[in-house]
Amino acid sequence: MKIFRTIKEQQNYSLNEKYRNVKIALVPTMGFLHGGHLSLIDKAKENADQIIVSIFVNPTQFGEGEDYKEYPRDERKDLELLREKNVDAVFIPETAEMYPEGFKTFCEVRELSKKYCGKSRPAHFRGVATVVLKLLNITKPDIAVFGEKDYQQYIIIKTMTEDLNLPIEIIPSPIIREKDGLAVSSRNIYLAKEERNEATIIYESLIMAKKMVDKGKYRVNLLREKMNELIKPKSHVHIDYIEFVNPQTLKKVEKVENPTRILIAVWIGKARLIDNMEVRPKRQSR
Ligand code: AMP
Repeated sequence: MKIFRTIKEQQNYSLNEKYRNVKIALVPTMGFLHGGHLSLIDKAKENADQIIVSIFVNPTQFGEGEDYKEYPRDERKDLELLREKNVDAVFIPETAEMYPEGFKTFCEVRELSKKYCGKSRPAHFRGVATVVLKLLNITKPDIAVFGEKDYQQYIIIKTMTEDLNLPIEIIPSPIIREKDGLAVSSRNIYLAKEERNEATIIYESLIMAKKMVDKGKYRVNLLREKMNELIKPKSHVHIDYIEFVNPQTLKKVEKVENPTRILIAVWIGKARLIDNMEVRPKRQSR
């Protein structure tokens, strides 16, 4: 497995592979790898010949007072896992390599970046879009895989590649969950025992809403109210938002008349956790 720490080395490698007509996949991560990340690598392998994983905790996507400093890191273990996965190359730059002095350019996917998670994290998606655009330019993939776990992020990156005519296919990959339903996340280690126990309510609330939709309850106000009621008794869990949106445009809907994504974000202790699920009205259920 090749390990590149400079942009030049990574670009040269990718240019060479492209010259050989090899189909390249990029899986961007912030490291502290878990089953969710590894599932993206499997998805990438189904769709490409060469797998590049990037590991970079991107400072520009963290707001002031957020967890940039404490964000968990374990390079040795990450590289071990990636070796076991037979990844071809890892791009793992230092911050100064990605953002040298004098760095000035940002990419913003307007409107989409300001909603939902963008409300409580105003500069977050600007940082995400910028770093992903840089990573795409550095690694030059044919495809890039993003987890549906971060659904708004997936749509924002897809929109960016379309708007900027990047010849790269953005492929979504389903959410990987713990046995009790909690979506796997690097931030789950922030949870104290009681908080971890209560965190399952996120998934349970999504499943409850899905069951209601399956029974023909389509009014979003009612569905949201029931989710709120279910979560309220959990003293450690504070809802940031629950929204029902069109899965492509992320526009809010008032009724589940078509396939709809439920997006949820909650605070539990110092962790902000997100999750989502697709629901569809009866006549369209699979
Ligand atoms: P992160 O390291 O948290 O920035 O995540 C890197 C990539 O892994 C993103 O595309 C995430 O959506 C994806 N990811 C993180 N957790 C999961 C999960 N539980 N299931 C599927 N994909 C995930």
